[in-house]
Amino acid sequence: MREGFHSLSISRLAARLARGEVSAVEVTEAMLTRIKERDGELNTYITVDEAGARAMAQEAEAMLARGEATPLTGIPLALKDVMVTRGLRTTCGSRILANFIPPYDAAVCARLRQAGAVFLGKVNMDEFAMGSSTENSAFGPSRNPWNRDYIPGGSSGGSAAAVAADLCIASLGSDTGGSIRQPASLCGVVGLKPTYGRVSRYGLVAYASSLDQIGPLTKEVRDAAILLQAIAGHDPKDSTSAPVPAPDYQERLGREIKGMKIGVPREFFGAGLDPEVAAAVKEALQTLTGLGAELIEVSLPHTEYAVATYYVLAVAEASSNLARYDGVKYGLRADGKNLLEVYAQTRAQGFGAEVRRRIMLGTYALSAGYYEAYYKKASQVRALIRRDFEAAFRQCRVLATPVAPTPAFRLGEKVDDPLTMYLSDIFTISANLGGIPGISVPCGFSSRGLPIGLQLMGPVFGEADLLQAAYAFEQATDFHRRKPPF
Ligand code: GLN
Repeated sequence: MREGFHSLSISRLAARLARGEVSAVEVTEAMLTRIKERDGELNTYITVDEAGARAMAQEAEAMLARGEATPLTGIPLALKDVMVTRGLRTTCGSRILANFIPPYDAAVCARLRQAGAVFLGKVNMDEFAMGSSTENSAFGPSRNPWNRDYIPGGSSGGSAAAVAADLCIASLGSDTGGSIRQPASLCGVVGLKPTYGRVSRYGLVAYASSLDQIGPLTKEVRDAAILLQAIAGHDPKDSTSAPVPAPDYQERLGREIKGMKIGVPREFFGAGLDPEVAAAVKEALQTLTGLGAELIEVSLPHTEYAVATYYVLAVAEASSNLARYDGVKYGLRADGKNLLEVYAQTRAQGFGAEVRRRIMLGTYALSAGYYEAYYKKASQVRALIRRDFEAAFRQCRVLATPVAPTPAFRLGEKVDDPLTMYLSDIFTISANLGGIPGISVPCGFSSRGLPIGLQLMGPVFGEADLLQAAYAFEQATDFHRRKPPF
C-alpha cells in the first residue's frame, strides 16, 4: 500500500487521501525520499523545499481532518522556478537571481496554498524561460526520463521531466511560445497553455508579457482540468487577467465528441515535419475520426511568419522586462568603479549567452529608426495570425496539429545553433500570438522510444473544448499509461 503514490494522478491520490488510506505527510515524505534518491539522474529540481513541504503537508492533514479538503489538498506539486514563492528562492534558472528570495507569492501559488497543495520545490528551466531544451539553465540541463542522452524540451523541461519521472504528482509551467506544450510532448505528459488572460500572471517573472501564460503539466487530462480550475479566474492584481468566470472544466470530460468539427490546418503538415511525428499525428486524427469527430481541412495562411514575428515581439518585450536586473534593487550585484560599471558588470556576469543575445536583438528591434520596420511590422503580422484563427474557428471547434516538429533531440545537438533551436517552436508559437489555448496530449512514440504529442488548439476561452477532446482521445488510447524506463 505504501508503494507507488508517486505514479498516481491527482484525482486518484486525492481519493486515497480522502478515504484516509494514506496521510498527506506520508505522501510528502515518500516524494521527498524519491527526489533525494533519483533526481540526481535527471536534475529536474533547482530547489527542494523539505521543511516547507512538510509544513504544508501538516496543514493539508488539518484541512482533511476538518473536512475542508479541496481536490488539491495534500497533493505534492513542483513549481517552475519562474513563479515567485514567499520565502523560497526563485532563480528563473539564472545566475542573476541565484540567491533571490521573494517576499510574496505569485497569485497561482497563493491559490494553490489556499487549496492545501504541497510544494515540493522549484523545478528547472531555461534561463528566464528562453529556450526549448533547459540547456540554457544556469543550474545545468535537465534530462529526458525516456532517455537521459536526450533533452526534456523547454523551457518548462524540469516540470515535464519531473511529472514523467514521478518526481512530483503534477507541475505548473509557463508558456510564452510553447514552453508548456513542447516539453510535455517530448516527455509524454499532458501540458495545457490557457487562453491569454485566463490565469493571473501576478508574480510570474516576466519574459514577454503579451504572450506569457501559466498552465499545468500533468500525467493525465483530468488532472490538467483540476489544476486549471484551481488557478483560473480574474485577479485584480493582473490588469491583463480577464474578468470572465471559469466554467467547470471537468464537466465535459467523458462526453462523447461525435460530430465535433476538428480542423486540420494544412500549413502544419509540410516540410520539416519528422516522418515519425507526422505518422503518429495522422494516426491520432484517425482515432479522433473513429470517435465520431468530423475532420475538416482548414488553412492558417500566415503560419509561415509566426516564428519570425514571435522572435521580434518576444525579444523586444524581453529586452524591456529584463532591464530591471541592474544589481541595485535585488539579485546579483557585481563590483564596479561607478554606477554604470555596476550595471554592466552585473548583467555581463549574471545573464547567460542566450539571454544576452535576446536582450541585444530586442533592443535593436525597438531602437529609433528600426521600430517601424521590426516591432510595428511584427505587431501587424500578429493581427493577421489572430484573424487566421478567428476564421478557422468559424469552421471548427478545435484544431489538431503536431506539437513539435521532431521528438526530443540529443543533449548538445542544437546548443550552438540558435536558429534551429528556435524552429522547435514552429507549431506552438502561433497559439501565443493568437492568445488562444492549446494542449499537448501523448499520441505515440518514435522508433527510439521517445514520446510524441498531439496538439489541440481552441478559440479564446475554449479550454473546456480542448479538455473534452483531449480526454476522449486519451481514454481511447494508452500512450499515457506507458512509463519511462527510469
Ligand atoms: N522556446 C521559445 C523561446 O525560447 C518559447 C519559450 C517559452 O514559451 N517560454 O522563446
